[in-house]
Amino acid sequence: MLAVVLFCTTVQLSFAQKKKIEIPNIEGYYTLKADFHMHTVFSDGHVWPTFRVNEAIRDGLDAIAITEHMDYEGFPDEIARDYNKSYEIASKAAQIKGLIVIRGVEISPRVPPYHHNAIFLKDANSFPFDYMENTHQKFIMKKDLTHEQLMAPFLEALNQDAFVSYNHPSFGWWDKKDTVLFTSFHEELLEKGILKGVEVVNSGRYNIIAHRMAMEYNLTMLCNTDEHYDMYPRYVESHRPMTLVFAKEKSQQGIKEGLLARRTALYFDDLIVAREPEARGLFNAITKITAQKKNSKDEQQIAVLIENKSDIPLQLKIKGPYDWENLPLGNLELGAQQQLEIFLKAVWKYPETINLEIEVQNFLVDPDHAFRTSVPVFIDEL
Ligand SMILES: [Zn+2]
Ligand SMILES: [Zn+2]
Repeated sequence: MLAVVLFCTTVQLSFAQKKKIEIPNIEGYYTLKADFHMHTVFSDGHVWPTFRVNEAIRDGLDAIAITEHMDYEGFPDEIARDYNKSYEIASKAAQIKGLIVIRGVEISPRVPPYHHNAIFLKDANSFPFDYMENTHQKFIMKKDLTHEQLMAPFLEALNQDAFVSYNHPSFGWWDKKDTVLFTSFHEELLEKGILKGVEVVNSGRYNIIAHRMAMEYNLTMLCNTDEHYDMYPRYVESHRPMTLVFAKEKSQQGIKEGLLARRTALYFDDLIVAREPEARGLFNAITKITAQKKNSKDEQQIAVLIENKSDIPLQLKIKGPYDWENLPLGNLELGAQQQLEIFLKAVWKYPETINLEIEVQNFLVDPDHAFRTSVPVFIDEL
């Protein structure tokens, strides 16, 4: 009996340890782990708001946004319409646990401009949804809806100084006859200063169209789960996808400032998607490279020690000024928290420093390029 209890405890512990991702702060900023898109029973989700809080704490997140559809009720007979309620329940549960909970909604028409989140709200109940025919369990829009009706919730988001982002562009109900995903409606949202971000990763899926959109329109990139059920089974083989926000302070205001400044990195599977400055900041924060003279059977070599100080695995391609020993093409996989020593051969005359040209093949700085950097390394004596 005792053995069984011990066995169960071990399994739970290892799961919890695996799910908490360690990523150091980068120079000048806190690295905050966040998920800005999720649902509960207060719209079409299937969990209670406190469940979202417990999941986030288990997964080591710093912040979550609760984003109910403001135009849909999944359980109208059981739960009165109140899109603030899930935020209120979650933020109360999170208070003593250090998790930041952000009030949001998902504006969810199935015609352009499609789904968008508005977060950092004061009131989630004041969003007009006159384009809807029926919001009870079936999502039915009016046939003769107007541009004004569709624009109304976005103007309310502007009124509340919300951060608005385009969710999962090209999702299933996108009208393929309309070959444009960034529509004239989106142009209008940009002109009005409403649209700020786009979900490049939704539910763990990388969306290259959204990535190109982020580049072209200079939008903040986000990686959200958009979870409706229990988070656990979907990501058991990897880790929960998350948006890393590089913030000046660990607070709602700090996160909002970081999002508006586009300082994010998206972490899902073994990949990072970030703009060049954030990719560089993250790479510099999580790696340490040192080098030392080495004598191997009277052959002068340089021993290079590479350390990964995070749980993000690194797929590197390293070019040095000499030839690597036993490292074809300079390809090196550096696992979470791993240190590896590699050797440069045939160094007839020791230099003071060497430059390593590194491509981080699992860091995407745009849809077509991996992050590259040149790292000068001082050579220590034997
Ligand atoms: Zn959606
Ligand atoms: Zn959603």
